[in-house]
Amino acid sequence: MSAPVKIVFLGGLGEIGRNCFCLEVDDRILVVDCGIMFPEADMPGVDLVLPDFTYLRENADRVEAAFLTHAHEDHAGGLAFLLRDVPMPIYGSLLSLGLARSRIEEAGMLGHTELIPVHDGERRWIGPFDCEFIPVTHSVPSAFATAYHTPAGTILHSGDFKLDPTPVDGRKTDLALMGDIAKRTGGVRMLLSDSTNACRPGFTPSESTVGETLRDVFRDHPQQRFIVASFASHLHRVRQVADAAVREGRRVAFLGRSMLSNVSLGREMGILDIPSDRVIDIEDVPRYSPGEVCIICTGSQGEPMSALSLMAAHEHKHVKISADDVVVISAHAIPGNETNVSRIIDSLHRAGAEVLHGGSSPVHVSGHAAQEELKMLINVVQPEWFVPVHGEYTHMVHHARLAESVGVAPDHVIVCEDGDALTLELTPDGRCAVEAERRAVPAGFLYVDGIVGDVGQGVLRDRRNLAEEGLVVVIVTVDTVTGEVVTGPEIVTRGWVYAPEAEELLEDAKAAVLASLREAVDEGATDFETLRRHARRSLGRFINERTRRRPAIVPVVMEV
Ligand SMILES: [Zn+2]
Ligand SMILES: [Zn+2]
Repeated sequence: MSAPVKIVFLGGLGEIGRNCFCLEVDDRILVVDCGIMFPEADMPGVDLVLPDFTYLRENADRVEAAFLTHAHEDHAGGLAFLLRDVPMPIYGSLLSLGLARSRIEEAGMLGHTELIPVHDGERRWIGPFDCEFIPVTHSVPSAFATAYHTPAGTILHSGDFKLDPTPVDGRKTDLALMGDIAKRTGGVRMLLSDSTNACRPGFTPSESTVGETLRDVFRDHPQQRFIVASFASHLHRVRQVADAAVREGRRVAFLGRSMLSNVSLGREMGILDIPSDRVIDIEDVPRYSPGEVCIICTGSQGEPMSALSLMAAHEHKHVKISADDVVVISAHAIPGNETNVSRIIDSLHRAGAEVLHGGSSPVHVSGHAAQEELKMLINVVQPEWFVPVHGEYTHMVHHARLAESVGVAPDHVIVCEDGDALTLELTPDGRCAVEAERRAVPAGFLYVDGIVGDVGQGVLRDRRNLAEEGLVVVIVTVDTVTGEVVTGPEIVTRGWVYAPEAEELLEDAKAAVLASLREAVDEGATDFETLRRHARRSLGRFINERTRRRPAIVPVVMEV
């Protein structure tokens, strides 16, 4: 008997980001998406968070390939890291692969993979996986939902999607194909669907509405320069900004490394069609009057080193933001980035600019389906089983209720979390039996800082403690023969008290340590470990009594 069909969730179920699951057929593994998550405020110094790759590393010989539903960082950004340990080919739309390629190339991992494009409506085998790629609309062009025709029946994964009736490129979510698949296969056994906006009632507005808003905004400010920040991968947004600018007779300059590379990819692939004579280099912007220019840049997440931040701080070489500028932030803050975004909006206002952002003006719409669209998908697919994916726990629970409200049997709706595994088997009467195993595989957060792999919980705990309480180092030199304190104790502190203003306190602290060391020596202790312990304890007690704080204490005992 062949191995049962399995789905193992490694990330994205319980948080926004690091989307990743394994589909298993005939004991082979297809990795569907492999994303990163942006760090939260309580993860100091962490650059990004990855799924736990333990399961994939331990089963590397069973990994057939990866499939990218689309190229957003929360679906594709982790591949460069995974490829280091698990080389494999990556399938996806031509654009998804083009967008994902640069990160993989930067990591030096192109040699560990082969990028294989698949096309709208195509059905093909990837090893034992019979896959069918369905166009969906989202905030990046060329995204896919996918039908996996498995021995346990058809599993449909929505990917990130919305039902945009008037997408910028005319490529709609192919509901008809999904309905056809449901009919053709005798019913979809399981639907995995995007929960990001499951708490939002109604429909998500069409991407084209942003174009209309932008046209009005441009018309209302004919004398001012426009600076529009958006995601570099949102090429339809970039296209609408550029179209509106060009229509109002402006020239367009692009700024930001990923913006420049994505725009050139988009122009190459025919997704962006901007007349070359309307595009100028950023260093030429000062030669035009404000009303003649529109700059399209990155930095919509308030990244402190982005071009937008530098422009606002008057630290950019070519562009300084002033009252002549209208800044449009055509994006929403990804969880984790909210503080940075409101900070940049503040500094833009301080620089005198007029600022339009998602919170103040319809210059942004979401790329994810709201409740009515989610229900519509379920109604079209009519799955036997429903599993909400991509979202915080609250989003998934709301999505589960939506599914029940349109008729999915409550005992056929499963809310899973990272690390859970589902086993699917066809029963003799043609139904699908599903077994859920909770916490079947490790699925914790993998913290990445710089080029070091996992920072780990211990390091994060230390960092949080250091951030909240500070550090005190006490240095003392001891004669090992007599046990006499020769020099010190010296106290160096960071983040406990401001040393120049706390001389008396520090003197008292030194005295406390010295007294405790003398006492230890009198009792016959000469070994470092004992002396170190005495120094740490006496200092800790003193600091707690005098300041009610608990900084990290590092005793350094040296010998002469
Ligand atoms: Zn996405
Ligand atoms: Zn996503």
